[in-house]
Amino acid sequence: MKIAMVGSGYVGLVSGACFADFGHDVVCIDKDQSKIDRLHEGIMPIYEPGLAELVGSNVKADRLTFTTSLAEGIQGADAIFIAVGTPSRRGDGHADLSFVYAVAKEIGEHLAGDAVVVTKSTVPVGTGDEVERILADSGTSHRFAVVSNPEFLREGAAIGDFKRPDRIVIGAEDDFGREVMREVYRPLFLNESPILFTGRRTSELIKYAANAFLATKITFINEMADLCEKVGADVQDVSRGIGMDNRIGSKFLHAGPGYGGSCFPKDTLALLKTAEDYDSPTRIVEAVVKVNESRKRAMGRKVLDALGGLDAARGKKVALLGLTFKPNTDDMRDSPAIAVAQTLTDAGVTVAAYDPEGMDLARPLMPEVEMVTEPYAAIEGADAVAIVTEWDAFRALDLKRVKDLAKAPVLVDLRNIYRPADMRDIGFAYTSVGRG
Ligand code: NAD
Repeated sequence: MKIAMVGSGYVGLVSGACFADFGHDVVCIDKDQSKIDRLHEGIMPIYEPGLAELVGSNVKADRLTFTTSLAEGIQGADAIFIAVGTPSRRGDGHADLSFVYAVAKEIGEHLAGDAVVVTKSTVPVGTGDEVERILADSGTSHRFAVVSNPEFLREGAAIGDFKRPDRIVIGAEDDFGREVMREVYRPLFLNESPILFTGRRTSELIKYAANAFLATKITFINEMADLCEKVGADVQDVSRGIGMDNRIGSKFLHAGPGYGGSCFPKDTLALLKTAEDYDSPTRIVEAVVKVNESRKRAMGRKVLDALGGLDAARGKKVALLGLTFKPNTDDMRDSPAIAVAQTLTDAGVTVAAYDPEGMDLARPLMPEVEMVTEPYAAIEGADAVAIVTEWDAFRALDLKRVKDLAKAPVLVDLRNIYRPADMRDIGFAYTSVGRG
């Protein structure tokens, strides 16, 4: 099969490289010239474990190429995937579909053969209908079908997730769309990955329902963590205790500083907008969005408390370890660390930060924070150390060195990666999440 992938970001590049690895002939298209230039030089524009090797081997095998020209890239393609961004529209939280529609228009203008156009971007219900209208309005004489195929990969584990998905969801309205998609994913049938065919609107909603459900799970355990702190219970054990029940499941029950990243915040907001537009409120998701939003600054206040409160904190220094919204990515979009840092600097605290991959993208988002090149440089002279992202590098800190370098042995662990008893034995004033 020949596949064109329009948009070569986290999703487009990973999906394109994996499709090539399955044996398809893939062209990754992006309008960002510098991204395509870097890919031609073998440099990855994003950090994702294993991606450089996967891209390299498929380029070498002549199955994966890159271009900035959509007109060229979609020539002869059986399936054209749209994998461009759908960020929150400024002001109202609706998904901004301008990139998706711009691509649909360009595809209509340059379609040179029969093809299936697939929205892999996360798009609200009804977007496929609009893409279909745009293609029809282009006056193309070629046969086309518009299919929804949402992506469920996680950054940091994206290649494994793409190659061994829990399920593939395909929303199609006709046999042409369904048959081409079956061919595209045939290599995964061999893995016995379940494939779910639905209507297009249903498929579009599945993606939002999945993300909203996961965001709800995280927010639920975060509120349980707050309650644990008040009643003297341990949220880690509560998570285990409920997660062992198969009806609940153990995943996404880690208490922490609130969800962030490029998907949950914008997708929950977009779902609320859809619900509002159709006059069908989703009140649980409304509460989740509100609770999560206030939690991020509350985590900053937790660090201020560890410094002795708002008044005592002014003029002190905090070392922030971890900035990305989760480990193994450089993605800083909506990371809780942004609000934590902001709460601290608003209170007159000096912040020095270190992140293994995220600092380049973090710098413009937190201009008042000093970025340093290794964790201990941030810790030197700090009145408190705060772990915000659970990178492996922070799981095995040299705690004696931390104590010697810091001005005071105060550690706030927003990811619960250390054991309270151990930390107290070493002599830290240790605060974590939900371990009363
Ligand atoms: P991204 O910002 O990393 O990549 C989008 C790319 O599209 C950019 O490189 C941009 O230059 C390119 N682009 C924009 N307009 C274009 C055009 N007209 N022609 C060609 N290229 C164009 O975004 P992402 O994180 O890969 O997300 C893409 C979509 O996938 C979003 O809808 C997102 O919600 C969804 N998604 C993301 C993830 C994730 O973990 N990042 C997971 C599942 C789904």
